[in-house]
Amino acid sequence: MWNELLEREPCRRPSGNFRAYFSTKEEAEAFAADPGNTDYHGDIAHLCHKCGRYHLSRPEWLVPQFARHMRSVN
Ligand SMILES: [Zn+2]
Repeated sequence: MWNELLEREPCRRPSGNFRAYFSTKEEAEAFAADPGNTDYHGDIAHLCHKCGRYHLSRPEWLVPQFARHMRSVN
């Protein structure tokens, strides 16, 4: 199962470029915390269920997903 995960391609942006991705949450959070990193600064690290890696997203992008998840759990 782990091998299958590693062979999966990271997600791409609609433009076709790869999204920023990280193998650990710590790595993603350290990247987002870097003040010199204006594109991702303050973003939230989250595990992607499509590619099994961590991406950084604006907190407001994650709220609707989170709400949907909570509804499906309850
Ligand atoms: Zn992904």
